[in-house]
Amino acid sequence: MSGFKTHLTGGVVSGAGLSALSLVSFDFNMIQASSIFILGAFGGILPDLDSDSGKPLALIFGILSVLIPTLLLHRITDSKIISPEFLVCYFVSGYIIINYLICGLIKKLTIHRGIMHSIPFAILSGEIGYLLFISSGPNISEMVGLSVFAGCMVHLILDELNSISFKFGLIPVWKSSFGTALKIKSGNLFATLFVYCLIFSATAIIFLR
Ligand SMILES: [Zn+2]
Repeated sequence: MSGFKTHLTGGVVSGAGLSALSLVSFDFNMIQASSIFILGAFGGILPDLDSDSGKPLALIFGILSVLIPTLLLHRITDSKIISPEFLVCYFVSGYIIINYLICGLIKKLTIHRGIMHSIPFAILSGEIGYLLFISSGPNISEMVGLSVFAGCMVHLILDELNSISFKFGLIPVWKSSFGTALKIKSGNLFATLFVYCLIFSATAIIFLR
């Protein structure tokens, strides 16, 4: 398994590349390009959502528990009822639900190098990124989706590269972990079907909305 810093660096590099591409291709402003960069870097550590402990999980859930309630705020309520007391209840309950309940559930239900280390999970993450930014317009939501997807794919590729060592510095030797990251299904049929169903639903929402 590649380390946290390696994955973060991979995500930062792919996020920076897509951010630069968006500045050139779509004339994004710096805030928009920065969000592409940040979400690409985040994608770089996202598959380690299935690692049960340590820095990646704490960081991923810390970010998600702030980001998701913020991105959903304008969809679940109208601005007239947004008051300080509403915001306190909304963000504190969102933080507790995501950072403790959902995090605990994911720890229980997932195994390391399971379905979250797979190409379909990278696709689903990209689609969710796209959907969360849909109100910002097609160019931004497409670039966010692409950036999250690319960050996840870089993570999977780095994990696979880390599964190859060189005997005598020359002969490639495949570790037992080889093939457990860049895959299209996990050993758990239910988890695999669940993720493919989510991809199907997200794709339907994207194209039929
Ligand atoms: Zn990994």
